[in-house]
Amino acid sequence: MNFWRSLFFFVVFIEKSIAADFCYEDSHCSPNSWGNSFAQCRPRTDSRQSPINLDSKMTRNESLRPLDLQGFDAAPSGNWTLKNNGHTVMLDVNGLSVSGGGLPGSYQAQQLHFHWGSSSTNGSEHTVNGRRYPMEMHIVTMKTTDQNLTSALNDTSGLAVLGVFIDVADQDNNNFSAISDLVASVKYKGTTLPISPFPLISLLPVRNMSQYYRYHGSLTTPPCSEAVMWTVYEVPIYVSQKQIDAFTSGVYYTEDGANKALLRNNFRDVQARASRALYASRDARLLPDSSTPLSSSHLSLALPLLPLLAAWRL
Ligand SMILES: [Zn+2]
Repeated sequence: MNFWRSLFFFVVFIEKSIAADFCYEDSHCSPNSWGNSFAQCRPRTDSRQSPINLDSKMTRNESLRPLDLQGFDAAPSGNWTLKNNGHTVMLDVNGLSVSGGGLPGSYQAQQLHFHWGSSSTNGSEHTVNGRRYPMEMHIVTMKTTDQNLTSALNDTSGLAVLGVFIDVADQDNNNFSAISDLVASVKYKGTTLPISPFPLISLLPVRNMSQYYRYHGSLTTPPCSEAVMWTVYEVPIYVSQKQIDAFTSGVYYTEDGANKALLRNNFRDVQARASRALYASRDARLLPDSSTPLSSSHLSLALPLLPLLAAWRL
């Protein structure tokens, strides 16, 4: 009897563990079913979920100046840890803080991680006018007045996440090699690698730090807590295809073993923005002139070209 009782509780325990986990590509735990286990992931009319599409319907906010990034210029002392948690490749960091740029307080950096697609698809979480970049990096910071993560997740501005788009270029990005060269060492779920801290500014679009978008949203993974002040930088950093392939073709969401499966497309689809405000920093540039709707300006440019385009088709 005791055996069957133990077995029953063991099965219940396993089922609960599976239900409480999440994934991207298996239907039983993919983003569409996150809401079954995590209430805040369920779409509601008043949701403030992330990511979103960043489009021209935004408001310029002249008071949004560059964020004050403390400790990013130097290599902090101590150790950082790179790890594969089965959902992403994550770098636990310390010694860095973020304030200014309209953020309501000072925030301590906790970790950064990546979202990517596959060998044939892009995988950023935010999109810009519907365009998805190859990858996106998130630097997750927690408000210093929140005692712990639980308290931060219950604070509507408990976390500030810096989002950086990653685009492809011909050349390797030597700064990015500090991560991409080490991804192969954490290819399986549960593996970790201590690494020496380096100046984190080297992973940011340093010449364009005053250009960003700001909105109030959520974690893009369960429990989808609506506790995030998002800063998404407008200009991407550039890395080589080989450096992107290190993620799309070299990371597994399974542990080392026979049934290994690649971690791909670890991004959540864009969520409804509804009536939420989306702000552009003082220096953001990609906003089309609000007096000239994007569609009509494109049309007026395209019209004189129509005979040419027709000729090309012949
Ligand atoms: Zn993320």
